[in-house]
Amino acid sequence: MSRRVSILGATGSIGQNTIDLIARTPERFEVVALTGGRNVTRLAADARALGAQVAVTAHDDLLDDLRAALAGSGVEAAAGRAALLEAAARPADWVMSAIVGVAGLAPGLAALEQGATLALANKESLVTAGPLLMQTARRAGARVLPVDSEHSAVFQALVGEDIAAVERVILTASGGAFRDWPLADLAHATVEQASAHPNWAMGQRITIDSASMFNKALELIETREFFGIDPDRIEVLVHPESLVHALVGFRDGALMAHVGAPDMRHAIGYALNWPDRAELPVARLDLAEIGQLRFRAPDVARYPALALARGVMDTGGLSGAAFNAAKERALDHFIAGRIGFTQMSGLVEQVLDTLSSDRRLTDAEITLDTVFEIDHLSRAGLDRLL
Ligand code: NDP
Repeated sequence: MSRRVSILGATGSIGQNTIDLIARTPERFEVVALTGGRNVTRLAADARALGAQVAVTAHDDLLDDLRAALAGSGVEAAAGRAALLEAAARPADWVMSAIVGVAGLAPGLAALEQGATLALANKESLVTAGPLLMQTARRAGARVLPVDSEHSAVFQALVGEDIAAVERVILTASGGAFRDWPLADLAHATVEQASAHPNWAMGQRITIDSASMFNKALELIETREFFGIDPDRIEVLVHPESLVHALVGFRDGALMAHVGAPDMRHAIGYALNWPDRAELPVARLDLAEIGQLRFRAPDVARYPALALARGVMDTGGLSGAAFNAAKERALDHFIAGRIGFTQMSGLVEQVLDTLSSDRRLTDAEITLDTVFEIDHLSRAGLDRLL
């Protein structure tokens, strides 16, 4: 029997890799919904090719373009926020959550509410509202599977293990585009330079977040929320080759490492076929050829985002929502050329300092409304600093 699948964020880097896998064995899948943003040409082409029920763009003003591109295909066209939620809520067995940013939270929750297995690439959902996401899954009897490569690696290392026997989790980081730059040069790094990842081909925003390690900072929080591991048991290790994706250390001293090519189709394919392992079109590593794997501790001066994430985990509550929003906004300003690369972390820190005096961060319940309220306050707070 074929599995009903939907892809939220189908036109992005993760979405396209997911489509690549599904299109290799189309007889196994029935595509329910594909959603995208501005790239309606890609969205329509994929919806036609996969025979989706519905294609949705997040932008109302692009509905006519999407309709035109889908004319005669039999695929429904829809646009806007409500349509996105409706698409996510359509009955499906497996839903890929690959919208970028906090915009992915509500559609992911809608998919969980209808009981689908949520393959979670959108780490912002866990950072901003981890307890809400996991509680929703439990209440609906639905499952969340990690797609971020580090979290997929940890998840795989834990198969058959007792979480109580875990002593530590080590997330590896490539170190990003500037890992070997002199520190003094970082202040003048351009958007183009920050957008070139040494090992992974990803969307622009996450690539820049890798250079600043804001991405790893989000992943620290994501690890805490997904696996329920204490922050002081989660470590970050710079590993320039990006072949070991994570390690799990157990109380007997054993370290289980997940090793594989830097190709997101591995983690996506693992979630798509879970609990089975299917053959995947990823490179097989020749370790003799690779010769050596290097590791080093992250330089705290180069990557101040890591310390910010530790503070966020200590505070808890809605501080993840504040952190993520300030980070997204600082990134917007960096991409627009309004601030320098190294200014991002200082601005985010100032916003967190200001908001931490607001009891709402720790007192308010985590709901969609409170997350968006803090998100808004945090973005506005960051804009006021410019
Ligand atoms: P991309 O920027 O490549 O794609 C983002 C997707 O979201 C596109 O389909 C885009 O549409 C859509 N989108 C953008 N804004 C909105 C919005 N406001 N409402 C609805 N849809 C929107 O991102 P990635 O694929 O790189 O990343 C997606 C998620 O996966 C992120 O959370 C990222 O952190 C995570 N992730 C990504 C990895 C990677 O290798 N790329 C690795 C691990 C995690 P359009 O392009 O049509 O405008």
